[in-house]
Amino acid sequence: MNKIPPFDVSQQYQQIGDRLNKAALEVLASGQYIGGQTVSQFETEFANYIGSHHGVACNSGTDALYLAMRALDIGEGDEVITSPFTFFASAETISMTGAKPVFVDIEAHSFNINMDLIEAAITDRTKAIMPVHLFGRSVDMTRLMAIAQKHHLYVIEDCAQATGATFNGQKVGNIGDVGCFSFYPTKNLGGCGDGGMMTTKSAEVAEKLKILREHGSPKRYYHEYIGMNSRLDSLQAALLQVKLPYLDKWNAQRREISDRYTALLKDANIPNLVTPHHCTGSVWNQYTVCIGAGKRDYVQTQLREQNIITMIYYPLPLHLQSVYKHLGYKKCDFLVTEDICDRVLSLPMFPELAAEQQERVVSTLKDILK
Ligand SMILES: *Cc1c(COP(=O)(O)O)cnc(C)c1O
Repeated sequence: MNKIPPFDVSQQYQQIGDRLNKAALEVLASGQYIGGQTVSQFETEFANYIGSHHGVACNSGTDALYLAMRALDIGEGDEVITSPFTFFASAETISMTGAKPVFVDIEAHSFNINMDLIEAAITDRTKAIMPVHLFGRSVDMTRLMAIAQKHHLYVIEDCAQATGATFNGQKVGNIGDVGCFSFYPTKNLGGCGDGGMMTTKSAEVAEKLKILREHGSPKRYYHEYIGMNSRLDSLQAALLQVKLPYLDKWNAQRREISDRYTALLKDANIPNLVTPHHCTGSVWNQYTVCIGAGKRDYVQTQLREQNIITMIYYPLPLHLQSVYKHLGYKKCDFLVTEDICDRVLSLPMFPELAAEQQERVVSTLKDILK
């Protein structure tokens, strides 16, 4: 049996390799390897796509989150509320600023932060909320913005897995104060290396983001802040410029794939398997099912034996990571998150995944769990 990988980023190169080669060679010949027009054009095109006024490119999604908080003056003594069920960078960047991550449990059906629990976690020190649009699905931004406004908190959206996703028709990354995106190769808009972007409606915040990404220096060799070196390479900008016009098509393909998985799994009627809730506006970075408690690792191993490779995002919640021992969280603090971490399994998902491959994934799952 052929291997079905969890993602396959080389397929995009097979589709549009000629255009990517041409764009890359142009940058190589130009000698403009850092900054320049390619980067600023891509920033404008990306901001237009999101519907935001300003796009500021940087070196990764991680840097985007860190720079966004620095631009909003978040640091020592502050608290930032986020989800314990996300990639480590969401909380890591809060800690990098000197602020403290404060976790709030998730909802089982959306995998996103539970709105009903946020207000109880707000203290005098809370400065911001970082919603994470996990697996491509938007947080309920109407409710989140209402809570933030009521308590005068900033909102930094972690859109790393949700480029192109919408909430009530509005693109994520254009709702809070700053939207932070990743161009890591497996993200919905993936580059050929690392890359990131911040979007904001505020000219003032955009200006500060630009200063911070280049050594805190508004003018070369004059430094106003401790910043960093976090630029998007011209080469990556040129490649992403080629890919951006395809993003809506690729996201539509991901939607079709998720609908097909859900229909196939419903027909298969597999005991102890829960399919992800349908959600208009999701861009399905992952299609994640929940398996009956205690069976998940066995199912993953059995699938691997049939040459179907799945992923576990994420096996250990952030509040139980060893690095956060000092924060004082313990097991059973967030029951939904902890249960979900034991049960999630992300099935193969990429725009080019074929219907027959999906059928094989589902029939193999049925054989294992019947
Ligand atoms: C990928 C990811 C990041 C970090 O992006 P990088 O470009 O890999 O630094 C942050 N948050 C979430 C939720 C992610 O999935």
